Amino acid sequence: MNQISNVLPKIDFFSLRLRLTIGIAAFSTLGLGSLAIWTSWRMQQILINSHKYYIQQIADRLPRDVQLYSEIIPPEIVLQKAINNLTTPNTFLWVKGQDQKILAKSPNWNLLSRATATELISLTEMSSKPQINQINQRYFIWCGGTISVKGQTLGKLFVVQDVTREQKMFTVLVQNIGIASILVITALSAAIAFYIKRSLQPLRQLSQMTEVISASDLPEAKLYLDHAPTEVKQLAQTFNMMLSRLSQAWEQERQFVSNVSHELRTPLTIVHGYLQSVLRRQNNLTEMQKEALETAASEAERTIRLLQDLLDLARADSGYLHFRMESCLLNDLVTEVVSMADRYCDRTMTIESTNQSIEVIADYNRLRQVLLNLIDNAVKYSDAETPIVLKLNQQGEEAIIQVCDQGYGIPLQHQARIFERFYRVDEARTSSQGGCGLGLSIVKTLVEGMGGSVTVRSRLGEGSIFTITLKIKN
Ligand code: ADP
Repeated sequence: MNQISNVLPKIDFFSLRLRLTIGIAAFSTLGLGSLAIWTSWRMQQILINSHKYYIQQIADRLPRDVQLYSEIIPPEIVLQKAINNLTTPNTFLWVKGQDQKILAKSPNWNLLSRATATELISLTEMSSKPQINQINQRYFIWCGGTISVKGQTLGKLFVVQDVTREQKMFTVLVQNIGIASILVITALSAAIAFYIKRSLQPLRQLSQMTEVISASDLPEAKLYLDHAPTEVKQLAQTFNMMLSRLSQAWEQERQFVSNVSHELRTPLTIVHGYLQSVLRRQNNLTEMQKEALETAASEAERTIRLLQDLLDLARADSGYLHFRMESCLLNDLVTEVVSMADRYCDRTMTIESTNQSIEVIADYNRLRQVLLNLIDNAVKYSDAETPIVLKLNQQGEEAIIQVCDQGYGIPLQHQARIFERFYRVDEARTSSQGGCGLGLSIVKTLVEGMGGSVTVRSRLGEGSIFTITLKIKN
């Protein structure tokens, strides 16, 4: 059972390849099978007809011979002579009188077994049209007639031909045709399956090429197939035209986001500045006015951050996000980030690191932004009394920074998607925390832009660990 389930998933029952193979193999089987059956049937007809013709001739000739010669010789002697004359090793003749007594019979009866001979002799009637019959596993074609001399009925004539040898040869022939047909059908099916697999190869290539195209490669993405059939080449061309339209649309959208973010950020920064300066003076503001201005200032600040994130992502997409790569001492960076975060929230934050100093080549400010984003998430998605731990380690040629919390955790099915733009795990829970689903995509973009990688390990209800891996400076 287990073995079957291991094999079955590999067979796609809806694939074009399987359908074509089964379809063509079924039609070939039907065609070849019908041909084999028709050939066998025709051969048997020819075989039987030739024998039928022969014994019909005997049944017609014998009465005429007896009639002719009985003018000069007594009919009983003519009868025996005529029967002897027409007897062959496979042909048996006999004449029965009115009282069912045998008047004459061919001399070769000893060639038949006693049981078969008795059964044949006991027959009282035979049709005048030749028929094939089986007795004791032997095949006979027989027909009958009447013999008359000078208008008087002398008796009934029985003509039998043994066709067992021919019938057996025919059976062997049919078996051989059957085996040959099965072999040909099997070989044909294998050849068809192989041919279809090869014919569908360009389609598979096309799908593999399309699979790896990401939004960032859209402008250069082109599908090209060397020896593909015209139809597949046309499909590739259509795909290419679609890719070029997608690329234009993607570029326009990116440009739009970049322009809007840029245009909104400047006036909002000014508004935020004014709000801050009014709040700083606040000589004659009522409590309500002060609260309203504080809310306005914090919303403006949140929106500026969002616009900055959008701008960074749009720049990263178009390759304009620049990094000032320099040598950074991670031990200092982690200490600085923790003290900065400490100023904004009252959370227990600890650093776990070995005493060795770990240096990487990275953009110091961007890396700080990355860690602040991760700490911000750890604070947002965990209870106030739980601690946040930053771990710094070196493993071989890699520096590893981990931001660990003991918060709500992320369900497994969401873990692969949280780095996508605007992706949020639980809208109801996370919208109250004020984010908009861009933080982790910024983290991923920045870390990968510096040649590193970021991963997550999380358990629902136990917490999450975000791990950043960077190459150490040699
Ligand atoms: P947001 O602005 O919503 O925080 P992010 O891109 O930073 O957006 O995070 C995406 C989603 O990942 C969040 O909505 C949250 O559900 C989940 N997430 C991120 N960090 C954590 C964490 N430390 N613990 C639990 N969930 C997290």
